[in-house]
Amino acid sequence: MSTLPITFEDVVAAHDRLRGVAHRTPVLTSRTANERTGAQLFFKCENLQRMGAFKFRGAYNAIAQFTPEQKAGGVITFSSGNHAQAIALSANLLGVKSVIVMPYDAPAVKVGATRGYGGEIVFYDRYTEDREALGQRLAAERGLTLIPPYDHAHVMAGQGTAAKELFEEAGELDLLLTPLGGGGLLSGCATAAHALAPACAVIGVEPEAGNDGQRSLQTGKIVHIDTPKTLADGAQTQHLGNLTFEVIRERVSEIVTVSDAELVDTMKFFASRMKIVVEPTGCLAAAAVLHGKVDVRGKRVGVLISGGNVDLLRFAELVQAAG
Ligand SMILES: *Cc1c(COP(=O)(O)O)cnc(C)c1O
Repeated sequence: MSTLPITFEDVVAAHDRLRGVAHRTPVLTSRTANERTGAQLFFKCENLQRMGAFKFRGAYNAIAQFTPEQKAGGVITFSSGNHAQAIALSANLLGVKSVIVMPYDAPAVKVGATRGYGGEIVFYDRYTEDREALGQRLAAERGLTLIPPYDHAHVMAGQGTAAKELFEEAGELDLLLTPLGGGGLLSGCATAAHALAPACAVIGVEPEAGNDGQRSLQTGKIVHIDTPKTLADGAQTQHLGNLTFEVIRERVSEIVTVSDAELVDTMKFFASRMKIVVEPTGCLAAAAVLHGKVDVRGKRVGVLISGGNVDLLRFAELVQAAG
């Protein structure tokens, strides 16, 4: 058997590092959702995690393992989404300097939040500059360590702690569904599931507009696509990672897709029925269950809610437009 990039022991070690630092987020149930689906659903609420998404887990786990030299040098990343805020906050907590490469036209709220957590922002032009190349050049010039958003063993292991907590809380599950972008969350959670509940099938959920993960699992090769147009901005990835795909290929049963309309419907469901704010990407797994993409009847099903960072006016607009 080939050795995978991460093991359950890595997830357990990550969980120890996160103890007392990350929130142990609640697992909610909903009678309405159970009646609608005929299943017993357990929602793991990472929208209530620090900085509003599970990404804190992986970022903190990665920076916590820096050598003294790396800690003195600082961390850099080129993601403008939740990973940026996760890196900035984690670095701040660990006394490490952080540099975030962001496009000039990044939303003001994201720039503000990242600065608020103590991150230094370097802007680039997304039409003429390659953010990865810029990130690598800055890393080399300034002695910073680059932590990518998903294709990194310490990031993947950290994300897996969310599923570990869910199994500890909910007990045996027949199915576990998580959102899927580059696969850090799915690969980490599948690793935890394999160890804690070997009979549990793990399913990734991605936007219909960008089903590269589904095609990759079907063909056995990483499929590359153009940046997909979808409301799920946290899952606008163009391809899975080399490391995440190795785990996903071995440990994930299936990848399904949902439409933007189904994501908005799910945001409405969460707000009106469960009183929680969930961002579009955070709704992927729940949308698949609520819209019948997976047969869940009579099963115990874990549903990972991955994040809650959505501008409130934007939230209102989306919900209103859906009627
Ligand atoms: C990053 C992100 C995802 C996708 O995670 P991957 O590890 O890239 O698959 C899903 N939901 C939210 C809220 C995110 O921020």
